[in-house]
Amino acid sequence: MRLLLAMMKHETNTFSPVPTPLARFGPSFDKTGPGPLYDEAAIAAYRGTGSGLGAYLDIAEREKAEIVLPIAAGAPPSRPVDAAAFEHIADHICAAVARGGFDGIMLDLHGAMVTESYEDGEGELLRRIRALDAATPIAVAYDMHANLYEAMISNATVVAGYRTYPHVDIYDTAKRAGDILVRAIRGEARPVMAWGNVPMLPHVMRQGSGDHPNRELQARCAAMGAEGALAASLFTGFPHADIANAGLSAVVVTDGDRDLAERLRDELLDRAWVERETFVYKIEPLREALARAQAMPAPAPGQGPIVLLDHYDNCASGGTMDTTIVLGEIIKAGFDNVAAFAIFDPDAVQQAIAAGIGAEVTLSIGGKLAMPQIPGDSPPLEITGTVKTIANGRFRNKGPMGRGVATDMGPSVVIDTGRVEVALISRHVEPSDLNCFFSLGIDPLQKRYVMLKSRVHWRAGLGAMAKAVVDCAGMGVCTSDYSQLIFKNVRRPIYPLDLPNR
Ligand SMILES: [Zn+2]
Repeated sequence: MRLLLAMMKHETNTFSPVPTPLARFGPSFDKTGPGPLYDEAAIAAYRGTGSGLGAYLDIAEREKAEIVLPIAAGAPPSRPVDAAAFEHIADHICAAVARGGFDGIMLDLHGAMVTESYEDGEGELLRRIRALDAATPIAVAYDMHANLYEAMISNATVVAGYRTYPHVDIYDTAKRAGDILVRAIRGEARPVMAWGNVPMLPHVMRQGSGDHPNRELQARCAAMGAEGALAASLFTGFPHADIANAGLSAVVVTDGDRDLAERLRDELLDRAWVERETFVYKIEPLREALARAQAMPAPAPGQGPIVLLDHYDNCASGGTMDTTIVLGEIIKAGFDNVAAFAIFDPDAVQQAIAAGIGAEVTLSIGGKLAMPQIPGDSPPLEITGTVKTIANGRFRNKGPMGRGVATDMGPSVVIDTGRVEVALISRHVEPSDLNCFFSLGIDPLQKRYVMLKSRVHWRAGLGAMAKAVVDCAGMGVCTSDYSQLIFKNVRRPIYPLDLPNR
């Protein structure tokens, strides 16, 4: 057996100002610097990890297959992908496809990639692959935040999506897609797919798979396995994308039974539509939220910190990670024994490094990336403190999310103001893993408060340690106030932007 494996992952926030050049497609752990990994370096980086490629590599090795992995390219969410970056990635994959001789193709994609030229990046990649090779079966694993298009399904043989958010089943999803593909290659299964969407934009803060209603919807997807579905997936979608097909969708794969696939798909979409009001998020004003947090009793030893969630500025949804509204209010209100992760500010990091460990510094942090697509200003914040930590910002994830995968925060420092330890980093990393803190010499379990720039993924690594969580409405391009976003291209009408609760 000969298998072609590849990864192309980017969740595009069309409201984000953060650039998406090829160099953003890390993990940049190898000596050649930032950018995608290729061939043997890609195999070495992902073998044995809890990633989609890790699952495909395990399947390929189990099948004693010859492996071709031309490129592994994954970037943190940001604005539409540079046209040249997309062409580079697609060209590498398509060149391998054109050489031919594969029994199967296994792709680890995101499903919400928008490029400067295409609003459906994955569909465009798959269309090009199918134009070169109309026959070889293709498996695709998509993120739960995928915004599905016809080309993303019709040009694939089998599709599976994550069932968890935080995404702790990335490996399992690719394993499910890849195993079905192997059965198809052997002639043991004949996958057929039915997909569809409903006009609704579930709020990201309401999409967690530990919460109603997504918990029940995802459980239903899993249960469909006992009713003849090879794979059933419900995508909550990524709403910070002003594209026609943003929103909730579903796809069901069965073994040759199209009627069943359509019936199960309709059931998932109907169940989700009934829950549309439950997917709406209610915002608490920042001052009220912080006052509530201050009134909470201090955690007893071992209880874990109170999480202050700066969810408007989540870099893993395209946020600049440099807005300072929430951190500024925390400092002004006199919160004590706080760790804050993190402000993205490569310049401030270099100033702290130049000052050295133990030096007292006054830095103007954050507020450097303009956000023309949302209202308001995000000013820089002046802080004074000592340089507690200087680090290269690299670690491997503890898990459960992306266990073993290399993460690179770039040069990183911690400034200790006496009350607040502020992490400053040089590459966008959402705090979904405890090693974000441990690698910088911060033990979040010893803190009364931990400020996180995150929405749901923080729960993967840090959820179990939190005594309480307080949502803090700040500023950023993943604003939870959708009235701040100007949608021009999404199909209308769509709930909750237009539709009454009917
Ligand atoms: Zn996602």
